[in-house]
Amino acid sequence: MALNRALIVLGPPGAGKGTQSRRIAQLYNVPHLSTGDMLRDAINRGTELGKIAQPIMERGDLVSDELIMAMVEQRLSEPDCSKGFVFDGFPRTLKQAAQLDAILESHGFGKPIVVDFAVPEDKLLKRLTGRWMCSVDGETYNIYEKPPKVAGICDADGGTLIQRADDRPEAVKERLAVYERKTKPLTDYYESKGLLERVDAGKSVEEVNREVRAILNRVDGQHGRV
Ligand code: ADP
Ligand code: AMP
Repeated sequence: MALNRALIVLGPPGAGKGTQSRRIAQLYNVPHLSTGDMLRDAINRGTELGKIAQPIMERGDLVSDELIMAMVEQRLSEPDCSKGFVFDGFPRTLKQAAQLDAILESHGFGKPIVVDFAVPEDKLLKRLTGRWMCSVDGETYNIYEKPPKVAGICDADGGTLIQRADDRPEAVKERLAVYERKTKPLTDYYESKGLLERVDAGKSVEEVNREVRAILNRVDGQHGRV
């Protein structure tokens, strides 16, 4: 199966973007481009970008558009991005979205497919505060909704599960507020272009996955790289 375009997964923190993006990227054999994962990797490697991003991320704010765009452009120039990619957590501001349009055009990709995950706030809070992540493959678990078979250990590779610093209640509150202010307007932006596909992401992982795959099958052959 070929994607040959960008899939953009929009939605508030904790909506399940990473969980679904990882599965869809695997299915289509294209890169999963999570700007949050890229920044966490930069922090772990102790790079200049990581040093700048760490305090911003810990308080739940957004890293600057300039730094994010430079990071994304560099990643898209790598050869594994020639057959499409899944964006998770990007774009997050109108400026990033407009710049992404120009980049996709210059790389010869057509219009993106944009799915917007909606989840009621009480579920979001449970998903964020219960989230544990594998330190090896990045797979997420949830102590309430999707626990690992053995507490603290990844089912797939035995890696240790860790909790994100920004899943603390104060940072969660700020991240949800920043989402409302800066990222939610992107739904209108993509809707006005006729690209927005809404997904009820409050359902189970399997049901949400089926819904996203159905959208991809339906729009297959439209937009895309020519
Ligand atoms: P995001 O990338 O949007 O911040 P994640 O994919 O990391 O969200 O998911 C947030 C938390 O919710 C994780 O603990 C994950 O295991 C859990 N989760 C994801 N999708 C679902 C779902 N459909 N039902 C229940 N829990 C889910
Ligand atoms: P995420 O893993 O998507 O929840 O992102 C974690 C944090 O990384 C966010 O709260 C931001 O601080 C930062 N971040 C990730 N992606 C972006 C982006 N596209 N623009 C600005 N900041 C970002």
